[in-house]
Amino acid sequence: MRVVFLGPPGAGKGTQADAVSKDKKISHISSGNLLREAVESSTETGIKAKCYIEKGLLVPDQLVVEIIKDRIVKEDCKSGYILDGFPRTLSQAKVLDEMLKKLGNKLDLVIYFSVSEESVVLRLSGRRTCANCGANYHIRYVPSSKDGICDKCGGKLYQRADDKPETVLERLRVYHEQTEDLIAYYKKKGILKEISCDADIDAITKEVSDVINCTLQRKPLISRGVARVDSL
Ligand SMILES: [Zn+2]
Repeated sequence: MRVVFLGPPGAGKGTQADAVSKDKKISHISSGNLLREAVESSTETGIKAKCYIEKGLLVPDQLVVEIIKDRIVKEDCKSGYILDGFPRTLSQAKVLDEMLKKLGNKLDLVIYFSVSEESVVLRLSGRRTCANCGANYHIRYVPSSKDGICDKCGGKLYQRADDKPETVLERLRVYHEQTEDLIAYYKKKGILKEISCDADIDAITKEVSDVINCTLQRKPLISRGVARVDSL
């Protein structure tokens, strides 16, 4: 079971990936963490990546895919994995496909987590961070017991510039622009399933699980919001 999770910031795909990873016993590979780990453990590809990062340059797609390859050939990826955070562009998707082809396999499923502007603003703009210890809160979902004060250290909570509604909407717009042809690419391959993330977290988890089970059993998918990408 080789799955890619796609979705804009604030869709909650990291949380979903963790849940599925535990439930289906497949590895959750977050490309951000993977890159960090490769650099820290000074693997051959990690050392190469470090050179780019130290110069403030983007790590080339080819190299990121090499690092992913090193990871997915490991024992704990035998029964499958979820790639989270990569690919983000069409060219990255093509490099990834080439690498998988060389290994004699391919992606089984791409889940696209879509969100409405309203819900992503609600989710991200409610976040508060402690200025002192960095603890995270959410005014609606994870509130501190005293308004504006950190439960852990008594520090003051603030809203990061990144989480302001206008910034959130701009990021969403940029995300859609950058991923439009990536999503079209996977749709054309017939492996894209869209899940709307405007429902509550448990309902989304259930839908993700259904989609994965259907793919495992190679049944046609009949599910709410699935394979509907025209709303983009
Ligand atoms: Zn604190």
